Amino acid sequence: MDKVLLLPRLLVPVRPRGQVLEQMAVIVEGEHISAIMPRSEALARYENATRIELPEHVLLPGFINMHTHSAMSLLRGYADDLNLQVWLNDHIWPVEKAFLGPEFVHDGARLAIAEMLRSGTTCFNDLYFFPEVTAAAAVETGIRACIGLPVIDVPTIWAANENEYINKGLEVSASWQSEPLISTSFAPHAPYSVGDEALGRIARLSEKRNMRVHMHVLESSWEVSESLSRHGKPTLARLADLGLVNERLLAVHMTQLDATDLDVLSGTAVNVIHCPESNLKLASGICPVTRLAELGVNLALGTDGAASNNNLDLLAESRSAALLAKGFAADPCVLNALETLEMLTINGAKALGMEHQLGSVEAGKLADLCAIRLDSLQTTPMYDVVSHLIYAASSQQVSHVWVGGRMLLQDQQFLYIDTGDIMQRANDWAKRITSQNRAGSKQGGQLQGAEVL
Ligand SMILES: [Zn+2]
Repeated sequence: MDKVLLLPRLLVPVRPRGQVLEQMAVIVEGEHISAIMPRSEALARYENATRIELPEHVLLPGFINMHTHSAMSLLRGYADDLNLQVWLNDHIWPVEKAFLGPEFVHDGARLAIAEMLRSGTTCFNDLYFFPEVTAAAAVETGIRACIGLPVIDVPTIWAANENEYINKGLEVSASWQSEPLISTSFAPHAPYSVGDEALGRIARLSEKRNMRVHMHVLESSWEVSESLSRHGKPTLARLADLGLVNERLLAVHMTQLDATDLDVLSGTAVNVIHCPESNLKLASGICPVTRLAELGVNLALGTDGAASNNNLDLLAESRSAALLAKGFAADPCVLNALETLEMLTINGAKALGMEHQLGSVEAGKLADLCAIRLDSLQTTPMYDVVSHLIYAASSQQVSHVWVGGRMLLQDQQFLYIDTGDIMQRANDWAKRITSQNRAGSKQGGQLQGAEVL
């Protein structure tokens, strides 16, 4: 098999922890990293191998975006500066009701994927309707994805009821089983929008098939009282009774945690997916990451959808996470740059149950990598490259991206993706959405109903 030698100025492998290496070569064979060795040794040993010189770059694992609704990138900037329930009920759900379909999901997912790859993300964990379309868009573009199989107690054009959602999801999971870039998880929308029976079935299936359960949990204070009045118990206690609070749970947001909730989480190995910019923009609350880290919870990062962020730039998200944790804890020592880099990489891999394949630059792992240029004003001078990655660098400095050993971005240019076409299609959707809104307001009526996510 052909060997490719990647020859960066600096290597931040993430594992072993805290290392910054110089004059090293990463050897890629097929999908995997086959070895890491001193540059001089690699050049002597593999004279005929392809060489990729990265003289001004740091090479590191690709980022893992642990919470996305990729198709919603078509609604970027559609409705801002609103309360969460007003934003959903009066803006997002009506426009989705009017336009949701395979073409919408395909075009939105491709836009999201291009934005993510360009900013160093090599794997994303998605939750949206038409998951088979998002999976196809991921394979077309070459990115890795964990595709959520949506479940919600609201009929949509994708499925009529919770059991149909689950059954259709299982079919999607089976049909993508042999595709190496794709894995699947159950994705019940939220505890307030999925009933006990469906959640119990998902818990049993998740255990039997060893599949993750990706769910919004305790995003806003409204959910706390809703669970008590409707189910007679707090959200996390209910999820624990249903068998969902375990290492397979990817609990997104978690901004409303009291002492009882923290007790439920203690010692459970639950994964919490922190989305600081979405939480701040919607003023949903703040996830207590420092407290959760003390309990041994695995913390990873997500951007959420572009409709509530409004970008999918995970490097910028990591800076927000670090700054917010310090401000919230009134302690500048918490969530340091190294810990934040781990949230971007190895912790996401662990959350997906793929820490033996992803999340660090180590021999035997998949070659999901990104290179970032350091010869820029904003990363000069440099004392500590990890500090620069979290606190100074821009994702625009990402120059190269590989997924499964395949180079998708080279010198900041896509090799296979036509971004002109992707942007044209997105702009066409915006025109259609805007003109329908104008027609609706002329008739004196707003789009009504909250029948879909
Ligand atoms: Zn979300």
